[in-house]
Amino acid sequence: MLRRGGILIKSYPDFAVEPRNVRLALCTDWFAPHGQYGRTYSCWSVILTSYNFSLGMCMKPEYMFLTMVIPGPSNSKRCIDVYLEPLIKELLQLWHVGVLTHDHAMNQAFMMRAILMWTVNDLLVYGMASGWSTAGIMGCPVCMENTQAFRLQHGRKACYFDCHRQFLSHDHPYRRNKRSFTKNRQKRKIARPRLTGDEIHRRVEQYGTVVEEPLTYPPGYGNVHKWTKKSIFWDLPYWNTHLIRHNLDVMHIEKNVFDNIFNTVMDMDVADPTSGPGH
Ligand SMILES: [Zn+2]
Repeated sequence: MLRRGGILIKSYPDFAVEPRNVRLALCTDWFAPHGQYGRTYSCWSVILTSYNFSLGMCMKPEYMFLTMVIPGPSNSKRCIDVYLEPLIKELLQLWHVGVLTHDHAMNQAFMMRAILMWTVNDLLVYGMASGWSTAGIMGCPVCMENTQAFRLQHGRKACYFDCHRQFLSHDHPYRRNKRSFTKNRQKRKIARPRLTGDEIHRRVEQYGTVVEEPLTYPPGYGNVHKWTKKSIFWDLPYWNTHLIRHNLDVMHIEKNVFDNIFNTVMDMDVADPTSGPGH
């Protein structure tokens, strides 16, 4: 398991051998200080959690570290990297050098280092953190330009229906199911293997960061790719060796889906909850 050290032991044995070194996750989300539907003002919270705690403890509020609050009233989504820069600088120091820390149990001082394992977000913030826009066609950050998404005939909205049976094992019964997915269609195609961290890094290396290119998207955006920037997380020297860099918070997305359905059914006049505060 990653949190017990698996890939860390292989890639960074000097880091993994010290159990007091900290494994962190970064959670970013909107919140509206003036109530759930007060859409005139929204903030960003950036929270770090530590996987050194047991699974029952690491997501408890008392062990979550509110690292920064990015004030509103509106937020430039692509430019979250500018706000994250001081945090990334501290993470770099924590990785390369560490900080002198007192171990109360052993009564000794040691250099504590830290690694950022991944981010945990809803789909919208996933796009901001990873740099691959998750909106519209080609919004799936796994399928990328090989997406099978299509536009609905009348509403013209992007639809991802039946795009991901290709990831099932070759003999999975769903692949032969002609009734529950697209009518009369079996899925024989095998999905392309996921790009490795090195492969993705090579792709984004040619693009500018939001500091270098604050106003323009990389050439080809929307046509051949959905990269909006070279994400600041690539500054972390270990980022390309992680198997998973960005995670989706499923409970959060479930709430957004529920809000959408509920507001539609009740004919409530609110903006799309997936584009606003998550809590
Ligand atoms: Zn996909």
